[in-house]
Amino acid sequence: MTTAGKEVRLQSVSRSFGETLALQPTDLQIAPGEFLTLLGPSGSGKTTVLNLVAGYLAPSSGRIIVDGADVTDRPPRLRNMGMVFQNYALFPHLSVLENVAFGLRVRRRPKAEVQRSVSHALALVQLEGMGNRMVATLSGGQQQRVALARALVIQPDVLLMDEPLGALDRQLRKQVQLEIRRLHLAHRRSTLYVTHDQEEALVMSDRIAILRSGKIEQIGTADELYRTPANAFVASFLGESNLLRGRIASLSRGCAELEVPGLPARLAGTAASDLAVGRPAVALIRPEDVRVNAEVGLPASIVERVYLGELVALRLHLGEGVELWCRRLSRSEPLASERVQVSWSPDHVRILHP
Ligand code: ATP
Repeated sequence: MTTAGKEVRLQSVSRSFGETLALQPTDLQIAPGEFLTLLGPSGSGKTTVLNLVAGYLAPSSGRIIVDGADVTDRPPRLRNMGMVFQNYALFPHLSVLENVAFGLRVRRRPKAEVQRSVSHALALVQLEGMGNRMVATLSGGQQQRVALARALVIQPDVLLMDEPLGALDRQLRKQVQLEIRRLHLAHRRSTLYVTHDQEEALVMSDRIAILRSGKIEQIGTADELYRTPANAFVASFLGESNLLRGRIASLSRGCAELEVPGLPARLAGTAASDLAVGRPAVALIRPEDVRVNAEVGLPASIVERVYLGELVALRLHLGEGVELWCRRLSRSEPLASERVQVSWSPDHVRILHP
């Protein structure tokens, strides 16, 4: 298997279906060897992007460039991309070997090469020795590995995956996530991965693009999106968040103060772009950044406790209509009373466009 990944570029690519603009004009780059995930709610345009790159859909405008070559008008079979779908799309009445060999047979590769490549692909996904089993007799996780082997065997320039783990149970999903990640790190094949599961995106991706209504809201590493989300949508889509709504009271040198109805003091934090004094905005505070029982803080009462194993989540009531979730280690010192003092560092507050 080769290790060289190819670069994929979307240049002002859009796609409409009748009146629906499924993808607004979009620029996007998958760097050579990068694992890029498209994350977004249902209908946000993720599959549309994937199908445009694969060539199953033609763009309404724009060009698609792979390693400098314009492939916009090339049919899918001439793009050398491997595709893995949620429903596996395997031939149930054929053996594992026959399923994996399919793409090579269509390309009329010599028999010896087919055998060698298929064994290699099955070893990669840890299915050695299962080649003669009928696909219908395999578990969901094994079938998904066959689908992955089938996509890898053609040595694709780009690997495209559309919710490939959606049909697996949680335990298996976590296991296959890590396997896909390890396989990626070993071979560095450029990969475009579609999911609506944030955990999956966090575990596997080099970068994540968050989509909403056919538009990329933000693209970056998981840590960039988590720590410095561009807006409230991104903040709420990745990780747990407290979002307090109010109006900007002051703005200077990258810092903002927010008046939040029901909160006795102004809320200070780092300002994102597109804010103006007097305009509505949202303060983001991650639950792990909310401290309880600080010596100085705002009085609050605990109104709910949720045990999460390693962590416990507390719902805190601070004032009329103002509540925050706090997460702390469940083994930390028990709280003596339901009345607590709550605080956070302004460094952990981000003031965002609503
Ligand atoms: P999901 O997570 O549900 O698969 P998605 O983010 O992949 O959603 P897309 O399937 O790309 O979203 O769809 C984006 C928009 O384009 C939706 O409004 C969808 O209804 C519309 N759309 C997609 N394919 C077609 C089609 N063949 N004909 C008409 N509209 C379509």
